[in-house]
Amino acid sequence: MPGGLLEHSSQPEALLVEARRIVIKIGSAQLIDKLTGHANMGCFHALAADIAGLRQRGVDVVLVSSGAVALGRPRLNLPTTRKLRLDEKQAAAAVGQTVLIQTWDQAFTPHGFHAAQALLSPSDTENRRRWLNSRTTLETLLQLGAVPVVNENDTVATEELRYGDNDRLAARVAQLVSADLLVILSDVDGLYDADPATNPDAVHIPVVDAITPDIAALAGPSRAGTAGTGGMATKIAAAEMAMAAGCSTVITRGDSERPVSALLEGVRATWFRASVSPESAKRVWIAGSLAPSGRLHLDEGATRAVKSGRSLLAAGITQVEGQFDRGSAIRLVDHAGQAFATALAGYDSHECRQIAGKQSDEIEAALGYRRGAALVHATDLVLD
Ligand code: GLU
Repeated sequence: MPGGLLEHSSQPEALLVEARRIVIKIGSAQLIDKLTGHANMGCFHALAADIAGLRQRGVDVVLVSSGAVALGRPRLNLPTTRKLRLDEKQAAAAVGQTVLIQTWDQAFTPHGFHAAQALLSPSDTENRRRWLNSRTTLETLLQLGAVPVVNENDTVATEELRYGDNDRLAARVAQLVSADLLVILSDVDGLYDADPATNPDAVHIPVVDAITPDIAALAGPSRAGTAGTGGMATKIAAAEMAMAAGCSTVITRGDSERPVSALLEGVRATWFRASVSPESAKRVWIAGSLAPSGRLHLDEGATRAVKSGRSLLAAGITQVEGQFDRGSAIRLVDHAGQAFATALAGYDSHECRQIAGKQSDEIEAALGYRRGAALVHATDLVLD
């Protein structure tokens, strides 16, 4: 593919058929009766069945689920007639999150898999070291067959330091796990050229290939009265973030019988098609890292291995230059002293110095723990 650009077939549903890793976002408005705080079990079971179907096809699924505040609110007798203060929302989330995760686990168990609670705050995705940690945990959960159920860590979030809505959180998660499709289940079936609630002539837009200013301008404010936080504006912002990471996005209704399978039957939706793959988007991001903070010198064998697409092991390191954290961008230097690649460090500079030249099975003895054999994983490096 020239320049890593993707070509799309005319049927956007193909994006779902071909996806290997999907993030599904569902909001409080679909899952919870706002007044009673009761879970809408039909909705949980319908989505659980869809997720089971995807997993049977070998697709990895990560779920981003809202609902903690809506579930917790009536349980703490917090009024539904006014906006909650931040501390009240945090308290409600603390109570509601336990119910939310239990309800997902109950819905998944008959299908033979479990829900894994993952609460993230912006520092987990905006700080590189924590980004790597979060990614490793989610990867491990997927490998072990669980479905990560992600929500914002509302209980510790502050007004200035929160994602604020789960649309944006879902786009970050999609980027974190290199998903190729983000499914946003909503109370609307996609994007219109006017507000369909007030304008009967509003025309539905089935496919968007770029977020132009005209498309961004179509985002109206969130509709009042729903339990969720994000409106169309946050959904378009999420689609834009995901597309930049090579992840296509689809917005459709979450209240139908089998909302994800319905997409294959051509249910109304708006598909935002990414023009690059997650792999090439990540390569552009790594290669563009500003000011790499250190250098690893490789022996001849390691240079050859890395150039042929393999991970970098400790045994092939001859020298460590600079101070860097785990997850920082660094340069790799060949045996002749020539820098030839940019990479994300899997260990910090202090650890690298302790394990340089050692065999992989000696790492644990040298550090007292072991995080993996690769100092740099093959998917975290880009050759010049
Ligand atoms: N994290 C919030 C909750 O679980 C919801 C945020 C949102 O709906 O966008 O209640």
